[in-house]
Amino acid sequence: MKSLQYDLCIVGGGLSGLSVASFVGHQRPEVRRLVLEQATTPGGAITTYNESGYLAEWGPHGFLDNCAESRRLVELAGLQHAVTTAPLGRFVRYVCLNGRLQCIPQKPLRILREPLMPWKGKLRILADLWKKPLPGEPTVAQWVEHRFGKDLLPFADAVYTGTYAGDIDRLKIDAVMPGVRELEHKHGSVIRGVWQARREAKRREGTGRKGLPAMTSFNGGMAMLPQHLAADLSEQGCLAFGNQVQGLVRDEQGWRVLMEQGEIICRHLVLALPVNQGLALVAAALPSLPPPLPAIPEARILSVLLGFDTRACIPFGFGYLAPEQEARFTLGALFSSHMFPGRAPEGHHLVEALVGGRRHPERLDLSDDQLITEVCRDLGQLMDLPPPSFATVLRPRSGIPQLEAGYSNLLAWRQQLHAAHPDLHLCGFGWKGIGINDMVKEAARVAEEICTHGVAGESTEVKGVYF
Ligand SMILES: Cc1cc2nc3c(=O)[nH]c(=O)nc-3n(C[C@H](O)[C@H](O)[C@H](O)COP(=O)(O)OP(=O)(O)OC[C@H]3O[C@@H](n4cnc5c(N)ncnc54)[C@H](O)[C@@H]3O)c2cc1C
Repeated sequence: MKSLQYDLCIVGGGLSGLSVASFVGHQRPEVRRLVLEQATTPGGAITTYNESGYLAEWGPHGFLDNCAESRRLVELAGLQHAVTTAPLGRFVRYVCLNGRLQCIPQKPLRILREPLMPWKGKLRILADLWKKPLPGEPTVAQWVEHRFGKDLLPFADAVYTGTYAGDIDRLKIDAVMPGVRELEHKHGSVIRGVWQARREAKRREGTGRKGLPAMTSFNGGMAMLPQHLAADLSEQGCLAFGNQVQGLVRDEQGWRVLMEQGEIICRHLVLALPVNQGLALVAAALPSLPPPLPAIPEARILSVLLGFDTRACIPFGFGYLAPEQEARFTLGALFSSHMFPGRAPEGHHLVEALVGGRRHPERLDLSDDQLITEVCRDLGQLMDLPPPSFATVLRPRSGIPQLEAGYSNLLAWRQQLHAAHPDLHLCGFGWKGIGINDMVKEAARVAEEICTHGVAGESTEVKGVYF
């Protein structure tokens, strides 16, 4: 059995693992590092579909350009010139309410002016200024209703359908919005907290608001990012495909990482894996420090890609989301060729409709033909559409981790684990968020910690809510 020594071994060649390796390599090129990936291609959940003139995504469609760490990563990948953006200020989004697509203005005050909810509901939002924080671990739905009233629930539902494919009656507010919860405790009100935070930012930066961020992808789709990072790492001999890690052992030499092909001995070990896969490896290796839960739930979605000719009347914008109360088949749809031109053949539109999620896993078992028929029927009630000239179904392998009951205990356990084993780092899909920017921020924090050999503190951040 072969045994190789490295300063740093990273398990997982998805965006998290590739980001840790790239950040460390940039800051400390002398660190001997290796990324182990079980698949034969990089990127994990990020995979781009490119066929018959249509460019679509199996996984993420993009990320907001308001994250410094992600911008740095794009530079490290040498992809600044391939970036394509869709500014939130220009591309509106729609929510399906009462069986109609209704445009959601991106500015909160403009939302209040629109006839999207009754006046009583709009006034009820202001009760946030006097409401005491709910104790314990409320769900998103309980928290939104307590602070802002029940008329806001369909909008919260749409936000968490669009991000987590989740269920607001199960997702925990402390897990998905820790920064907002902190504002609530500190200022006694979210509105007051956000207003104060804006004033402080304005004073610090000496400028007004910078405007809304932009949704960002690349001209060849999202897969360009992991592919470019991976090509660079492979050139430096830092990436090994087809290596599935099967076990870990901690001994006096450091961490031993076991695979069928042999073993790696390393000083620092990063598990850049979705929560459940990381938990399985750690629980087997360190039985004296068992995690509070063996696994967290995951939500699966699939995309039905539909191509239409110019007869289709698709409203301009990013797309729409449908809250559960609307009882629709489709969770929502992206108007992809509006967002990123060039994603459909000349004279055609591409719509990517999302199905399944935490509440409707049974729909994932339908055949492609059934899915296409149901989605066309559903979208046809909301928009004037001819029969599609192109249709296919993408079924992603990755599920989206759901931050529900017990998740806060899991984060606390991760801290205890790290205190006991400062050379073991857990990051990746579902640890401190689920989005690309969350992954890259965590990767940058882990890389910094490894490079400085210190233990950097974790902070909570107030994330913007964009439909
Ligand atoms: C359908 C879908 C849509 C999404 N949409 C968006 C979006 O629009 N915007 C956004 O910001 N985010 C979105 N996300 C989330 C985003 O894709 C993730 O945040 C990100 O890709 C997670 O990267 P990761 O490297 O942490 O995990 P992964 O991508 O899961 O990578 C983990 C890697 O580890 C490898 N691996 C696992 N076990 C082992 C082992 N034992 N040994 C070796 N290798 C192993 C896997 O093969 C994989 O390559 C979406 C996710 C999904 C699934």
